[in-house]
Amino acid sequence: LTPPPITQTRSTCCYCGVGCGVLIDSDGTRITGIQGDPDHPANRGRLCTKGLTLPLTAQQQTGRALYPELRLNRHMPRQRVDWDTALDTVAQRFADIIQRHGPDAVALYVSGQLLTEDYYVFNKLAKGLIGTNNIDTNSRLCMSSAVAAYKLALGADGPPTCYDDLELADCVLFAGSNMAWAHPVLYRRLEAAKAADAQIKWIVVDPRRTDTAAQADLHLQIQPGTDVALFNGMLHHLIWEGLIDPAYIDAHTAGFAELKRLVRDYTPRMAAEICGVLEADLITAAEWMGRSSAALSLYCMGLNQSAHGTDKNLALINLHLATGQIGKPGAGPFSLTGQPNAMGGREVGGMANMLAAHRDITNAEHRAEVAALWGIAPAQLSPNPGLPAVALFEAVRAGQIKAIWVVCTNPVHSMPDIDKVRAALQQAEFVVVQEAYGNTDTVPFADVLLPATSWGEKSGTVTNSERRISRVRPAIAAPGEARADWQIADAVAQRLQNLLPSRPQGLFGFADAETIFNEHRSLTTDRDLDISGLDYPLLEQLGPQQWPWPSGASGGQARRYSDGVFATADGRARFHATPYRPVAEPTNSRYPFHLLTGRLRDQWHGMSRTGRVPALWAHTPQATLSMHPMDAERRGLQAGQLVKISSKRGQLILPLAFSDEVTTGTVFAAMHWNAQFLHCGGINETTLGSVDPQSAQPELKHAAVRIEAA
Ligand code: SF4
Repeated sequence: LTPPPITQTRSTCCYCGVGCGVLIDSDGTRITGIQGDPDHPANRGRLCTKGLTLPLTAQQQTGRALYPELRLNRHMPRQRVDWDTALDTVAQRFADIIQRHGPDAVALYVSGQLLTEDYYVFNKLAKGLIGTNNIDTNSRLCMSSAVAAYKLALGADGPPTCYDDLELADCVLFAGSNMAWAHPVLYRRLEAAKAADAQIKWIVVDPRRTDTAAQADLHLQIQPGTDVALFNGMLHHLIWEGLIDPAYIDAHTAGFAELKRLVRDYTPRMAAEICGVLEADLITAAEWMGRSSAALSLYCMGLNQSAHGTDKNLALINLHLATGQIGKPGAGPFSLTGQPNAMGGREVGGMANMLAAHRDITNAEHRAEVAALWGIAPAQLSPNPGLPAVALFEAVRAGQIKAIWVVCTNPVHSMPDIDKVRAALQQAEFVVVQEAYGNTDTVPFADVLLPATSWGEKSGTVTNSERRISRVRPAIAAPGEARADWQIADAVAQRLQNLLPSRPQGLFGFADAETIFNEHRSLTTDRDLDISGLDYPLLEQLGPQQWPWPSGASGGQARRYSDGVFATADGRARFHATPYRPVAEPTNSRYPFHLLTGRLRDQWHGMSRTGRVPALWAHTPQATLSMHPMDAERRGLQAGQLVKISSKRGQLILPLAFSDEVTTGTVFAAMHWNAQFLHCGGINETTLGSVDPQSAQPELKHAAVRIEAA
């Protein structure tokens, strides 16, 4: 028999925010291979282990959600039903609850792994049709502190930098980012630049000696949560030594005097003491940054997943503004997006406090603009911000929200203090889970399971960490009866319109992903992320492009604020005086260890995809708790022994591993493992739901715990 011909489809990796381009080989029914796209500017042909093994995940239908399922009561298992029955049920139950209790009695919890087009339709469904802003996303757990800080300091969301800056910086500060593992393809570009120029300095700020830290010229192994004190101490030294840029501060910023008053107290000695590092090291870091011709900061969850995440971001941005290290090649604060499309989700306003195209719900002018563009009355848009992730699930638990629709995410794994999330989903009157996989920790709570398409089967766009929009294209048909996420949302929306005649009509019935993208870009006109000039044919012709790309433009913008004019009302960036505050849950005699959480190199989120590839287990074959050997010796614990990790909220049992990557008094566990792999819950059994007051992002990175023999 002649084997079927292999065709190649240009698409994008579905894992991290690097957004690597891929070429997918398929024989019409199966994905048979993958290569890095040599023409994609993000990766130039490279892929990491996760990207390279994507075809192995696509070949397995085991564990996929293939058919709609429904249960009529909680004592019955779900049964397979046809799509109309499932969609009618979802629409009817949501309509009933909205009519009985009002629009804020329902909620949607979506995902930074959705495509922009999916995100757009869900956001329009919640805000335009239902009239609730109770739509939040797992991006709240990932990037919301970076968003809050960009808006406060620079006037708009989105990094001012681009990937080409990686090769142009002569000082690179990594803060709370193990980039060698979490964003490996970009890290290779940095490594190559450093190999070519020995003068380039790397500073890593991290309480763990990660692989990234091990390669740094200077590792500031700070005590957990002390980043703000460190950055304030560095700024103190920069001011004292005259290493700031007064001309830049005068011309382009506001608020420096107040910040200067605050950091007067943060002498390098005092800051170094708080951080548990050497004063001389703190000074060296400040000197390298202050004397650099182009300083770039790369940061991720170590700053964001904190009850003071916005302040940590702001304190770092202060350093860039004070030294004029922003808006020029190789310089600036650069948040590395965790998920593949957290940026795209923000662009369509898919969070509880946002409206489309980076508009704010509380801004009446913004509501009027969106209402006009959707062709509805401004009063149809609720002026009240919806509930962000942690508060949203709390409201479900309290019975205030009665129906929840979870899309493409696994909150029973990823939310802090998981037991409360389980209780919430048990308490809810009606739970819909829309998923590509039928065996996540959240699926057992579903009254209706809606099977969705996944990577290799979907069409749309994603935006990566450098504001670059790439096409995602299908290489094979969806398995079973799975449908595109936007199609499912659109089908429910059309039914809901009929059931809620007093709500706006005619908002749905999208033909395809391109139609959705065109509507989305029409809402961006004259906004900071204006892509009114960028459409699918242009993306087809030119490949992935960066925003903004307004109508009539001949290209996107690699760097923002190069002219020193920021997106604030007066064009000036804002300094923010950020006092240091300790972690939300300090250690004490009952819970004496700092627990740090983080990622592994070859696993992704809750492992629903990567956990199915044997090759990806080779790097880290089993879940462990890392502890410094001196701590273990003091407690009489052996390597490999099972230990119980307990916090005020919950516990789990893991084998112990000795590691000098952590300091004494600190332990580390990866965030990926969950009930599927451990026979008990994951590390978020122990984490706490304390959130940043400005971004509502929870402190997933740290908790106080006790460790004892199991
Ligand atoms: Fe995929 Fe990220 Fe790896 Fe690129 S670096 S191949 S986007 S997981």
